[in-house]
Amino acid sequence: MPDTIEQITVAPIPARHWTELGRNAYTPEGLGETRTEWLVRAHTSGGVESYVNAKHTVAAEGGSIARLEADLREVFLGREVDSLLEVSSGHAVAAGSEVRAALTAWGWMDILAVDLVSRTRGQSIGALLGRRRRDRIPAYESTTYFQDLLHPQRGLAELVAHACRGFAHGFRQFKIKVGRGGRAMTPSAGLHRDIDAVLAIRDALGPDVKLMVDANFGYDDQPENLAEFIRATSPARLTWLEEMVTASVEGYRILRELQATHCPETLLVAGEVDGNPPSGAFVDLIKQQLIDGYQPDIVRIGLLRWKQLETRLAARSILPIPHNFGNGRFGLIAGLALATSLDSWVSLEDERICPNVYADDELTLVNGAYQAPDGPGLGIQVDDDAYARIGAPNEVVIRA
Ligand SMILES: [Mg+2]
Repeated sequence: MPDTIEQITVAPIPARHWTELGRNAYTPEGLGETRTEWLVRAHTSGGVESYVNAKHTVAAEGGSIARLEADLREVFLGREVDSLLEVSSGHAVAAGSEVRAALTAWGWMDILAVDLVSRTRGQSIGALLGRRRRDRIPAYESTTYFQDLLHPQRGLAELVAHACRGFAHGFRQFKIKVGRGGRAMTPSAGLHRDIDAVLAIRDALGPDVKLMVDANFGYDDQPENLAEFIRATSPARLTWLEEMVTASVEGYRILRELQATHCPETLLVAGEVDGNPPSGAFVDLIKQQLIDGYQPDIVRIGLLRWKQLETRLAARSILPIPHNFGNGRFGLIAGLALATSLDSWVSLEDERICPNVYADDELTLVNGAYQAPDGPGLGIQVDDDAYARIGAPNEVVIRA
């Protein structure tokens, strides 16, 4: 009897950051504490259950739960699990022909298909996508927003204390939001706070942690301040500079020159606003190697397609580095699964969502790295008691 998908449920699950987050270069207000995961649970006739966070459909422009329900009915309900992916010699090589267009358009569908097939076959995702290449997955703390502006009476001290708490929780890599000048502060006050933030966090956490910065385009139209930021933070030996300016060949030529002059070991990275295949200015940035790392979102791209992206980028010596902010607790789990399967791995973005609906207490961070679950599939289960409390009251059930 082929295993078919006979019931799907959808429920909104609160996803709480470990603490309140301030704003970044473009948000008008702080991010606050809570987001939403749209948890899809797909049950098969063989008793397998798979999961995904479908927020990219619900939160998309024109998105809704009705749209999500219609998509799930069309692509998954009643379908044989074996038809979702083309598997050759035990490895997934492509999306199944009947669902290829859908899985290409929606990365979360790709993740659900990969989870279903790997659980049904009893394989880990690393094994299904090629070979399990690593068990310990380095991750970076990605919640150092403009915490100083959230608590202005403490200012820089609050920012440093925020990073120190992350260090005490086990992180050894930190991304710091910069780009205050323009919207959050005046250009010159913002520049100096950005520089002070980087140098003070480096001073507090010591020489061995990795520090990155992300300006969310906050240095657009400020060439002198951009140059001064890169020059003044060079003693901090940043691992990467992310989205310092909007993607363009001219902008990145200038950035490349500054980086080559002041911090040649620092990577230039961008791409969370883009996808797979790369589009617009990113095509030229990749072709001309004006970036060193390309960062689309894991749940927007999907796991199988991320493997294809890795191959494409490797031809240009560009690292794929996953964006994973906004994907909830599920994003952490999916990111760990993806990391086990890739040839090259940099670091997983961790937005630090507290445990919510998954039985994943084992996901603890030790010396800056998570132990990846070893499957089958994503290697995690929904906790029935937690789901009964926070998922079931708002659940939509989809069956034939
Ligand atoms: Mg970013």
